[in-house]
Amino acid sequence: MSEQPGGGFTIGDLQRRIGELYGAKDEARGDSATFLWLVEEVGELATALRSGSAEELALEMADVLAWLVTLANIRGVDLESAVARKYGESCPGCRSVPCRCDPAGKP
Ligand SMILES: [Zn+2]
Repeated sequence: MSEQPGGGFTIGDLQRRIGELYGAKDEARGDSATFLWLVEEVGELATALRSGSAEELALEMADVLAWLVTLANIRGVDLESAVARKYGESCPGCRSVPCRCDPAGKP
């Protein structure tokens, strides 16, 4: 593990750490139940956006990312690679940096 507080902790590092911490439980729970936990955490993020402190907001964002990574582990997705493929070069819609897609459309 190569993480340093505040930097150098990649999505791949997170995915491996979540696997070490919870892999067996996550496999037993499965993708559908894990997705429900992800959605619940998204709801908690909404609450933090509305009324949470800066720290609560940050930690809820961490939870949402952790549950997404959990889902990736269960389904065998290399999330770091997927993010790099999709967003590593440019906007996946218009292939520009910054994005030049119609603001009325989904980015
Ligand atoms: Zn775009």
